[in-house]
Amino acid sequence: MMNEDDIAPLLDAVRRLVNEKLIPAEAQIDREHRIPDELLDLMREMGLFAYAIPAEHGGLGLSKWAEVRMIFEFCRAAPAFRSYVGTTNGVGGKSIVLDGTAEQKRRYLPAIAAGEMIVSFCLTEPGSGSDAKSLSTTALRDGDGYVLNGSKRFISNAPVAGLFTVMARTDPDDKSAAGVSAFLVEAGTPGLHVDPPLEKMGQLGAPTADVTFTDCRVPADALLGATEGQGFITAMKVLDDARIHMGAVCVGLATRLVEEMIAYAVERQQFGRPIADFQLIQAMIADSEAESLAAWAMVEQTARKMDAGENVTKAAAACKYFASEAVGRIADRAVQVHGGYGYMRETAVERLFRDARLLRIFEGTSQVMQLVIAREALKAYKAAH
Ligand SMILES: Cc1cc2nc3c(=O)[nH]c(=O)nc-3n(C[C@H](O)[C@H](O)[C@H](O)COP(=O)(O)OP(=O)(O)OC[C@H]3O[C@@H](n4cnc5c(N)ncnc54)[C@H](O)[C@@H]3O)c2cc1C
Repeated sequence: MMNEDDIAPLLDAVRRLVNEKLIPAEAQIDREHRIPDELLDLMREMGLFAYAIPAEHGGLGLSKWAEVRMIFEFCRAAPAFRSYVGTTNGVGGKSIVLDGTAEQKRRYLPAIAAGEMIVSFCLTEPGSGSDAKSLSTTALRDGDGYVLNGSKRFISNAPVAGLFTVMARTDPDDKSAAGVSAFLVEAGTPGLHVDPPLEKMGQLGAPTADVTFTDCRVPADALLGATEGQGFITAMKVLDDARIHMGAVCVGLATRLVEEMIAYAVERQQFGRPIADFQLIQAMIADSEAESLAAWAMVEQTARKMDAGENVTKAAAACKYFASEAVGRIADRAVQVHGGYGYMRETAVERLFRDARLLRIFEGTSQVMQLVIAREALKAYKAAH
């Protein structure tokens, strides 16, 4: 089990990177929609492209607890930076760590760990979002391989990905999750087309695009884990992990927003005194601090439980739900404390407000999280009675 001493140097290095390099670059990235290569290189050197990849494959091999502590620091910077490494370490890369064959691990994990290969996770389609199981992309067996056809929507990092983890139906007659398999499709494979980046509200600099497969032929060993029908089982396994991670992202952003809020309230004068002296401003600071601390505690505790091997499905969904809703409220208060300045481009809180909005939507909407929490709670009740 990792402890504070194990991660202190990493946290210190990440804090310095965030304060000295990433935060100062945020406004430019928001304007230009692009993270400079030298910043991505600094993240690479620090191992951030591989924090969750096991050390035996060249990654940092952080426990979940250590990961969330690192993310609390890293995500004080705009979440676009995290987006670059999130799916690579998370749903995309972890699928290979957990369920890849020995050959798939040997082939991809070292390149992923070195930050040379970014992984995109392709689940969502134009017709299937929250109801992901209804996806219609097919991967039909043909000779010594599979042929993929279908469209994937809103895929993070698609324009820069070297590898796509693609959920596709290997049994078109089976409309259930059991008909879905996962495939590892390398960029440049004929028939794989990535559209130009989509124009988004926030998290600019982290490219998102639609991806189309047209008679895209892959070899049989592109099937993740070499077993058909396991795609959703793999997705379920990485989902709890991803939800705790997203909770941590929200905590990092909440921490930053509270810092911005307080710094402005102390400096801004109205009626001859700092606005921080007014109790109505203090109430916004207090509510934000309390919610941020609550989210921090939930996420850290749930990560420890996951490391201990406990079932965390309900708690992980609760982390994602509570933390993303909380950071939405906190971002709104941060804008309010800034008054008219908070509505202006180039003000950090305006940008972070737009960035925060996505956190309630992707990797499972708040409504889907509510459904999971209630389902797990009712299941536990029924099992006990
Ligand atoms: C910037 C961005 C990046 C993304 N990156 C990726 C990625 O890398 N890979 C990937 O696969 N996907 C990605 N997504 C897709 C994302 O996961 C989906 O947008 C999300 O799951 C919601 O699906 P949807 O957009 O189709 O909305 P819908 O499912 O159509 O939902 C619309 C509304 O209906 C609600 N709703 C749906 N079903 C229910 C229900 N049963 N009960 C109550 N309310 C319900 C939803 O909560 C929502 O409010 C990304 C999305 C965005 C915006």
